[in-house]
Amino acid sequence: MKKAKRLEQLAPYLFAQLEEKIEQAKKNGTDVINLGIGDPDQPTPQHIIAEMRQQVEETANHQYPSSKGMESFRVTVAQWYQERYGVGLDPQQEVASLIGSKEGIGHLAFCYLDPGDIALIPDPGYPVYQGGTALAGGEPHYMPLRAENNFLPDLTAIPTKVAKQAKLMFLNYPNNPTGAVATAGFFQDVVQFAKEYDILVAHDAAYIEVGFDSYRPLSFLQVPGAKDIGIEFGSVSKSHNMTGWRIGWVAGLADAVGALVTLKSNLDSGAFAAVQFAAIRALRDPQDALEAQIDLYRQRRDLMISTLNAMGWNLKAPEASIYIWAPTPPGMDSRTFAEHVFTETGVVITPGIGYGQEGDGYFRISLTVETERLREAAERLRQCGIRYS
Ligand SMILES: *Cc1c(COP(=O)(O)O)cnc(C)c1O
Repeated sequence: MKKAKRLEQLAPYLFAQLEEKIEQAKKNGTDVINLGIGDPDQPTPQHIIAEMRQQVEETANHQYPSSKGMESFRVTVAQWYQERYGVGLDPQQEVASLIGSKEGIGHLAFCYLDPGDIALIPDPGYPVYQGGTALAGGEPHYMPLRAENNFLPDLTAIPTKVAKQAKLMFLNYPNNPTGAVATAGFFQDVVQFAKEYDILVAHDAAYIEVGFDSYRPLSFLQVPGAKDIGIEFGSVSKSHNMTGWRIGWVAGLADAVGALVTLKSNLDSGAFAAVQFAAIRALRDPQDALEAQIDLYRQRRDLMISTLNAMGWNLKAPEASIYIWAPTPPGMDSRTFAEHVFTETGVVITPGIGYGQEGDGYFRISLTVETERLREAAERLRQCGIRYS
């Protein structure tokens, strides 16, 4: 049977291709170390699991939840914003639950893009911005993220004609895949730009809790005026090792939050209440577990950075996120390099092209494997003779 054309617009999911390759090698007996996928290896903290265990027994939680999320969940998100970022939010109008932030990010395009409308999308970037835009019939305009601009888009490079047709702008800091962070000045420029052209800014803050040393990532909503033109997507997935639980939120401009809730009420029936209770625990509890987790990523980051720098790279350690983004050796595109590394070492790294054209001269290493395995991967890399020169 013939399927709808919109499915053809989707880029093949990068990790699907990678996974096939890894499976084949495993069958042939290779001891594969996968540094490709950004999925935390550590378990969800015990106190969150205990909360879930208790809530799953509650009969009231077995019924349909509300599309926009339980009141107590929305209030908790609003309090968390107030305490951690000094941002005031109305939990009735300006916060809603999501079945993981990916779900909301993907669906947002359907609320703002009519066929032909433009979405401004970072390149390299999380593939869902492009996927949602394509499914909704919108047109992507890619904003290059380049090293010389600290992987922030150059707003002045967006043609006026494009800006006028744009309805949405996706941003993501701390950034996947580059590990870059945003400055308050950049966010202020974004607010001004969005106001001038009447564009909704959707800031993806999946890594907002993962800052190293003394660095604390900013919320887009902290910038004056941001809430007039923008929303922020949040999640406990990466910060609390809860990727499998599927819970996140959207916060900010009431009109946009409401639009997403209206759309979602036609597609899903909200997140399992017991999971919302678990996320409340994650956000309310003392942050010791989170701090220990960040410290673990910091150690892994330092291990990988020193490994690559000993191989001829000259990398600065990222201030946030769970990724290292590094250039491929001159003359090698990202696929060739990733394949070469895999063949030589059995270590999977992600070719930058998977995140967009601008990513082609780069590769990404994820810090989400057991430290001992990461050490083994580092050892293999050191010994395989690959150098950046
Ligand atoms: C992991 C990730 C997400 C998705 O998180 P969920 O809340 O688990 O859906 C969103 N954005 C970026 C950039 C991510 O890396």
